[in-house]
Amino acid sequence: MKISEILKKGTFSVSFEFFPPKTQEGVVQLFETISELKNLKPTFVSVTYGAGGSTRDRTRDVVKRIHEEVGLNVMAHLTCIAHPKEELIDILEDYKRIGIDNILALRGDVPRDKPDWRPPDGACSYAVELVRLIRNHFGNYFCVCVASYPEGHPESPNMEWEIRFFKEKVEAGADFSITQMFFDNRYYYEFLDLCQKANINIPIIPGIMPITNFKQIKKFASMCGATIPQSLVEKLEKVEDNPKEVTKIGVEFAIKQCEDLILNGSPGLHFYTLNRSKATLEIFSAVKHLIRE
Ligand code: FAD
Repeated sequence: MKISEILKKGTFSVSFEFFPPKTQEGVVQLFETISELKNLKPTFVSVTYGAGGSTRDRTRDVVKRIHEEVGLNVMAHLTCIAHPKEELIDILEDYKRIGIDNILALRGDVPRDKPDWRPPDGACSYAVELVRLIRNHFGNYFCVCVASYPEGHPESPNMEWEIRFFKEKVEAGADFSITQMFFDNRYYYEFLDLCQKANINIPIIPGIMPITNFKQIKKFASMCGATIPQSLVEKLEKVEDNPKEVTKIGVEFAIKQCEDLILNGSPGLHFYTLNRSKATLEIFSAVKHLIRE
C-alpha cells in the first residue's frame, strides 16, 4: 500500500530500515529480525540499495520476500548515479510487476573504495532527476520518498542551499521524506521551520539511529555530517569498549529523543536498525504508549 495514503489519514508512521546482507547467514539473521519487529506492526519497512548498483539483485530479493512471504508494506531504496535511465526504468518496471509501490529515490554516493569510478553515460546526477523520471514514466503509480538532512548534506554549503534543492525534489513529485540520522532534535525542529517558510508541506519523518556501537556510529556520523552532542560523547567514551554499557546509554538516549519527537507532533519514527531488533524493540516498547492510535 502507498505510504502516502497512510500518512494522509494522519496515522503515526513507524518504520524500520534494513540492508540486504551479503551472505546466506546474514539473510537468515535479517529475517529473524524482521519476524521479531513484525510484532510491532510497522507502517512499512525499507531496504537499502548499494549506490554503485552492487546490491541490485539482493535489494530486490529481500524486498520481494518481505512483500510476498512476510506480508509487510515495503519501500525499496533506489540510487540513481550508477545506472543509465533505461536501467532505472527496468528496475522500477520490475518492482511494479511484483506489486511494490513505494520507492525511496536517492542519488547515492560515489563508491569510496573505487577512486576511478565514473558514472555511466546517461546516469542522473541528482535525486531530483530520479523523482522526475518516476513521475514521467509511472505517473502516480509509486509513492515517492526522498532523503532530507536537518544538519545539511555534507555537500551543501549552507541551509539555504539545502532547502532550495530539497524543495526541488518536493516540487518534482516527492510525497514524503525521511531524514538523515540526527541526535539533537533542535536540528530537526529548525529544519521543519525552514521547510514551512519555504512552503514545503510534505511529511518529514525523523530517522533514528540507536547507538549500540560507538566507534561505528562515530564513523557513520562523521561521514554524513551528523553531530553527536558533546555530553553524549563524553558518556559513551567512558564505556566505549563495553558493548552492554554503550547499548544501555544509546537506548536510553534514543528513548528520550523519540519521546520528545512524538510529544512535539512528529509524523512518525524511522529506525535505522542495522538488521538488529533488540535496541529498536526496547526503544519502541518504551515510547509506544505516547503514540496516538
Ligand atoms: P540529492 O538530493 O541529489 O542531494 C545531494 C547533494 O546535492 C545535496 O547537497 C544537494 O543540496 C545537492 N544538489 C541537489 N540538486 C542539485 C543541483 N541541481 N545542483 C547542485 N547541487 C544539487 N545511500 C545509498 O547509497 N543507499 C541507500 O539505500 C541510502 N538510503 C538512504 C536513506 C535515507 C533516509 C537517507 C537520509 C540517506 C540515504 N542514503 C543512501 C545516502 C544518500 O545516498 C547520500 O546522502 C547521498 O550523498 C545524497 O543522496 P540524496 O538523494 O539526498 O541526493
